[in-house]
Amino acid sequence: MVESVFSKIIRGEIPCYKVYEDEKVLAFLDINPLSRGHTLVIPKIEVAYLHQLPDDYAAAIGRVLPRIARAIMEATGAEAYNILQNNGSLAHQAVFHVHFHIIPKFKDSGLIIGWNPHRLLEEEAEDLLEKIKERL
Ligand code: AMP
Repeated sequence: MVESVFSKIIRGEIPCYKVYEDEKVLAFLDINPLSRGHTLVIPKIEVAYLHQLPDDYAAAIGRVLPRIARAIMEATGAEAYNILQNNGSLAHQAVFHVHFHIIPKFKDSGLIIGWNPHRLLEEEAEDLLEKIKERL
């Protein structure tokens, strides 16, 4: 895998506005924020997609994500926020190192979501359950 800019940030070769750091996790302000307080939370391991993340790094992120979100909410006064985690260029991933966006939502800034659902059909659900469960 070609190294991403986030590995350079982890090593301190590229500066960032560091919000939080521990042994396995780093959080810093997004350089092109969608809203005030937009922060990225990343594992300190070079992995492109969430499904490739080892359990211990996943757990380390899960443990601190609510705490960082809470601090951002309090610091910005936001009353709503989105957690966004893109995997694959089709899903708008631009940096191929796992990252969680914490994006405070204000009236006139934050994440804009396009949502175009269809009704889940019974046969679709049953087929999916069988295929997913046997792979877990
Ligand atoms: P994604 O589309 O989910 O891959 O988002 C990548 C995010 O990384 C974007 O919101 C960028 O603004 C952000 N980003 C890219 N380079 C940097 C950097 N050097 N420091 C902080 N954020 C960055």
